[in-house]
Amino acid sequence: MTNSRNYAISVIPGDGIGKEVMPEGIRVLERAASLYGFSIDQKWQDFACCDYYAKHGQMMPDDWKAQIGKPDAIFFGAVGWPDTVPDHISLWGSLLQFRREYDQYVNLRPVRLMPGVPCPLVGREPGDIDFWVVRENTEGEYSSVGGKMFPGTDREIVIQETVMTRHGTDRVLRYAFELAATRDRKHVTSATKSNGIAITMPWWDERVEEMAKHYPSVTHDKYHIDILTAQFVLNPDRFDVVVASNLFGDILSDLGPACTGTIGVAPSGNINPDRTAPSLFEPVHGSAPDIAGKGVANPVGQIWSAAMMLEHLGEADAAAAIMRAVETVLAEPGLRTGDLKGKANTEQCGRAIADAL
Ligand code: ATP
Ligand code: MG
Repeated sequence: MTNSRNYAISVIPGDGIGKEVMPEGIRVLERAASLYGFSIDQKWQDFACCDYYAKHGQMMPDDWKAQIGKPDAIFFGAVGWPDTVPDHISLWGSLLQFRREYDQYVNLRPVRLMPGVPCPLVGREPGDIDFWVVRENTEGEYSSVGGKMFPGTDREIVIQETVMTRHGTDRVLRYAFELAATRDRKHVTSATKSNGIAITMPWWDERVEEMAKHYPSVTHDKYHIDILTAQFVLNPDRFDVVVASNLFGDILSDLGPACTGTIGVAPSGNINPDRTAPSLFEPVHGSAPDIAGKGVANPVGQIWSAAMMLEHLGEADAAAAIMRAVETVLAEPGLRTGDLKGKANTEQCGRAIADAL
């Protein structure tokens, strides 16, 4: 960073439609930069994609960290091309490396109903649903502690442990309460299962209560994960900030965007709130091999991710303006992409949003 409003961004389009929606995300970012008086220094990377794997036998070069350098944020498209590279290899070899190496311990997704996006929940209007899912992104149920006993026999036993640390739990809870404190409703809902998971989840509940003491202006409650998924569908207007462990958050952060319509519009952040390393912003959708190469993908997920990235970088006005532009364009049937029953292609939709800015 040469001055405080010149942002170094690592741009990684990835696979499939990632390559098609990324230019639209960049188009809108550049337009926002020129309108709001900041600058974006882009460094494009050709790794973390399956083409790179085909040439080099791995998803990223050994010195990927050095090549990325120290950007202010990473702007990511989508990864995966299951015909050539199994998903677990492409994912572990790219995105999950970033999450770990950069300690992106919060996965953040908005659940917001937008105009023009058909809501699968009957009777809901834009404005009714507007909350955040905060998922713990580094520990918990996704640990590699465990193993098999007596494999291949009738006595076979398989064990996988959940590992939660006070450090890891408190920091994601703190993030959730801090986020809620900035919002109008100031409410945190915790996902638990302390009636069935008898050791980790009652402890999680205790940590929530401890953290809540530091935020007297924020109200909180908790739901068991089973009824919480039902509440997402039945009463989504009840939520403001929902915080969850890695596994529960994984489920909720897919369910939330699904409750608000197409997967093509939802963004996400993999965030290092302490800013000891870059955070990464990407659309929720994958590489969508079924529509890749046709130029028809919805670019809104990538563009909304750009808005989240700008918010993180401190450009809140530009971020809000991008969201207003997105809402303007989504409300216009002729400017929407095919997944929203519109006629525009990826580029036309992206240009329309840049122009609406
Ligand atoms: P991942 O494995 O990365 O989670 P996936 O393979 O489960 O992803 P996607 O690649 O996101 O799923 O695709 C799921 C479906 O949604 C596909 O039919 C795809 O065409 C559609 N889809 C995804 N993203 C978009 C988009 N931006 N615009 C239009 N349709 C999309
Ligand atoms: Mg996939």
